[in-house]
Amino acid sequence: MKFICIGRNYAEHAKELGNEVPDEPVIFMKPRTALLQYNAPFYYPEFTNELHYECELVIRISKNGKYISQKTARKYYDSITVGIDFTARDIQNELKKKGLPWEKAKAWDNSAVIGKFKPLAPEVDVKNINFHMNKNGELVQKGNSGMMIHNIDKIVSYVSNYFSLNIGDMIFTGTPAGVGECVVGDELEGFFEGESLFKLMVQ
Ligand code: ZN
Repeated sequence: MKFICIGRNYAEHAKELGNEVPDEPVIFMKPRTALLQYNAPFYYPEFTNELHYECELVIRISKNGKYISQKTARKYYDSITVGIDFTARDIQNELKKKGLPWEKAKAWDNSAVIGKFKPLAPEVDVKNINFHMNKNGELVQKGNSGMMIHNIDKIVSYVSNYFSLNIGDMIFTGTPAGVGECVVGDELEGFFEGESLFKLMVQ
């Protein structure tokens, strides 16, 4: 299993970090060891002083494929949830300045938080899904999949031109505006269409 993540997929978020809005999806990956087991405790990593949450819609691949067309992409994923692409922003800023890869900032152990998956019926419009995240009970991020620069089917198709997709792979589809810092003691709770799918405390 692997995580494929999309960067800068919401214009407002690209702007808040001072990034250009890309013509093509920005892709990076996290290894299997990045997965935080469901409901496992999350510990603030010792190598960062600026831990950021990025709440995102996450889809799960249900069929192996390569060179998938946008038209058929919907057949390759059957469930969805919200998750957090945890980012050591201080490290990422250093790496970006030097033009280096992002793994030390993005792909570390337990940096991928996954909520409870919801089955996605074929008739669900994946271009109109609402999600949000609260920090300590207050709204910090809110998104709708219709605001994505590259929609989910396009992402699946595009990614599959480079990487074979296998059953169980998960794709983080990018974060809306409102990313920010969290500290020990913060509680983060992610919602899909108003339903809570994960809740974690930074320890
Ligand atoms: Zn992200």
